[in-house]
Amino acid sequence: MELITKYMTRNDCYKAGRKINPTGIMVHSTATPGMMAVDWFSRWNKSYQAGEINRQVCVHAFLDDKEVHQYLPWEHRGWHAGGKANNTHIGFEICEPGGFSYAGGANMVGYDVLKQEAYFRKAWQNAVELCVMLCKKYGLSEQDIVDHSEGHKLAIASNHADVKHWFPKHGESMDTFRKAVKVALKAEQSANSNDPIAKAKKLYRVQVGAFANKQNADAMLEKIKAAGFDGYVKYE
Ligand SMILES: [Zn+2]
Repeated sequence: MELITKYMTRNDCYKAGRKINPTGIMVHSTATPGMMAVDWFSRWNKSYQAGEINRQVCVHAFLDDKEVHQYLPWEHRGWHAGGKANNTHIGFEICEPGGFSYAGGANMVGYDVLKQEAYFRKAWQNAVELCVMLCKKYGLSEQDIVDHSEGHKLAIASNHADVKHWFPKHGESMDTFRKAVKVALKAEQSANSNDPIAKAKKLYRVQVGAFANKQNADAMLEKIKAAGFDGYVKYE
């Protein structure tokens, strides 16, 4: 995951400067086909009060198949949920790929699942890695992650369909997303555990012989195995 940090200091949300103690993460998607993460800076780094933008919105990060762009400090109160999740949740947007359109609400028209699968997988992976990073930073688990549509059901967000209108096209859901985050968190934990072999990048090896002739090497390996030890022949 490549994280690029550049705050939207001109956005009124940034200027409001309110802080939160993050207790959750809210996943969104942009509903703006083809607009990638880097592009949102010039779109949203604007002041509503100065009449430069017609929406009062800001989110902590946008990500696509390549990068994660952080636009607000993680502990800054964002304007992404349209509800009280703004007081508790870090919000990020997954950019939707180009090549389709919207017709009425959250209906993706002309969305070619096969063509979009590679983009989706890379963006999904970046989203998982961002969640893992934030869970570790704030002591959260996969259970603390919801999408905008789940936030509405929990009465902490406005009535939006993201990402429920998109993930199922690729056979995924917020449940499988949480599961992927859980697996990734577990993998990191075991890599950081106290198991000295898992921890050590360098290992001490015991060598019992070096032979110019492979038959002699194989004969020694047989002896070692016969004596009840495990071994292998390595040719360098
Ligand atoms: Zn949303």
